[in-house]
Amino acid sequence: MDCKTGAEHLASLRDGRAVYIDGARVADVTTHPAFGNAVRSAAALYDFQARPENLERMTFAPAGGHRRVNRCWQKPRTHQELVQRREALVAWAEQSAGFVGRSPDHVASSLVGQVIGIEVFRRHSEARAKALADYFDYASRNDLFLSYVIINPQADRSKNWGEQEQELVAQLVDEDTGGITVRGAKMLGTSAIMANEILVANLQPLQPGEENLALSFAVPIATKGLKVLSRKSYEAAATSLFDNPISGRFDENDALIFFDDVKVPWERVFVYRDTDMCRAQFHDTLGHTFQNYQAQIRLSVKIRFLAGIARRLAETIGTARLPAVREELGWIAAQAAMVAAMVCGMEAAGHLAEGYFVPNKHYMYAAQVLTQELYPRIVDKIRSLAGGALIMLPSSARDWADPQLARIIEKTQHSPAATPRERVAFLKLAWDAIGSEFGSRHTQYEMFYAGARYVSCGHSFRTYDWGAAEALVRSLLDGCDAEGPVAS
Ligand SMILES: Cc1cc2nc3c(=O)[nH]c(=O)nc-3n(C[C@H](O)[C@H](O)[C@H](O)COP(=O)(O)OP(=O)(O)OC[C@H]3O[C@@H](n4cnc5c(N)ncnc54)[C@H](O)[C@@H]3O)c2cc1C
Repeated sequence: MDCKTGAEHLASLRDGRAVYIDGARVADVTTHPAFGNAVRSAAALYDFQARPENLERMTFAPAGGHRRVNRCWQKPRTHQELVQRREALVAWAEQSAGFVGRSPDHVASSLVGQVIGIEVFRRHSEARAKALADYFDYASRNDLFLSYVIINPQADRSKNWGEQEQELVAQLVDEDTGGITVRGAKMLGTSAIMANEILVANLQPLQPGEENLALSFAVPIATKGLKVLSRKSYEAAATSLFDNPISGRFDENDALIFFDDVKVPWERVFVYRDTDMCRAQFHDTLGHTFQNYQAQIRLSVKIRFLAGIARRLAETIGTARLPAVREELGWIAAQAAMVAAMVCGMEAAGHLAEGYFVPNKHYMYAAQVLTQELYPRIVDKIRSLAGGALIMLPSSARDWADPQLARIIEKTQHSPAATPRERVAFLKLAWDAIGSEFGSRHTQYEMFYAGARYVSCGHSFRTYDWGAAEALVRSLLDGCDAEGPVAS
């Protein structure tokens, strides 16, 4: 049995999708200078899984399917299967050192959690539950790359979503026997330019009366009326892969998704005019748990990469033996291990739900709260370790072409641990990761991809076992009345 390849993925993106950047419509995202390398990096994930030596580690044969597909679609039945699935996700994340946040395993993980909780959809509507189950089968058996938009454009945060500018937020404007028509915007379709389809939902609470906003559905990116408005491309701004080794390859892109009267057939509608079901889709099922468990798996790889950057930075500038620097490196190493350990903890403290083995929800939220604060701290630590090293660099690899400049560069880019060219190559990698405009976007991503801090802390508050914590407090208070004797 074979599986999806990179060439197939690239071919599937030449579908007439309406992607816009710098005032123009993109003819072909696979070759456009703003996206081509990132798209090829995504395609390379499928080539990676298709290699004979990776097939078993990365893929499985889904029931009813005709090909093997990525393990991100696998609903684990045991702790061992959950770990096996995670190992495949780690291997994919390692292909970009965790810099592709919305790789295909992210939304697939969300859907795995949602279909494990299909009973929640059945209580909403048998027809909508069937639509979701059928869609899961279709997307998983074809190993589709899905993106999602589950957040509304900020607009005026002092108002409810239904009170925003008319038809700003994506909403139902018409319906007939064929399906619904949707108009308005959602943010922020990361990876949408290179995905096959997009899942649309509402993670932010809706009020009664906002039923027209209370929808969830999935459509191909190339659907008539669906417009993808890209942000600035960091890939297009990259001078070379020597100068921009990460942003030149892994700029997954973020985009506003605008629904210009998009027609969605009923068999693709999963939530229909039900504000509470929008919440339940993620929180009463395991959708939110699985999507953010995947995010923490990916992040564990990225933090490991940053620990590698920190250590090599200190060695490059000759500070690695200073006790104070070793202390900082030890702190970073502890954080990297903590993130990895929390992933293992989510699995070890997992449980059976509907016959599937699922990660521990509170441990996942705990990791989310801690890591959205951790990421900028680690970036800050690396900046502190670096001094001017990240800045005193040739403007581009082209400087070496001038013998006079090359002589000066070779003399001044001295390092106790690297040749001048190795030093410059490494420091450009480090700057691309943490200091460049691309690096800065990553800090913003890690701080916000799963919600602002008040949202993550709210989830942590709701899911912690306060009963067990309070029981300890009560047990130590018991028998401690002021008149009682001091017991031994
Ligand atoms: C790089 C990047 C990629 C993203 N990719 C995706 C994607 O692929 N799909 C998707 O659906 N979404 C995506 N998002 C959107 C992301 O989910 C949201 O940014 C996130 O949920 C926070 O929502 P918000 O941006 O509306 O911020 P807000 O909720 O408006 O919060 C912004 C700040 O306002 C303040 N604030 C606002 N409301 C309150 C309140 N009630 N109480 C206290 N403080 C408040 C806080 O200081 C908060 O930090 C992405 C975001 C980023 C930055």
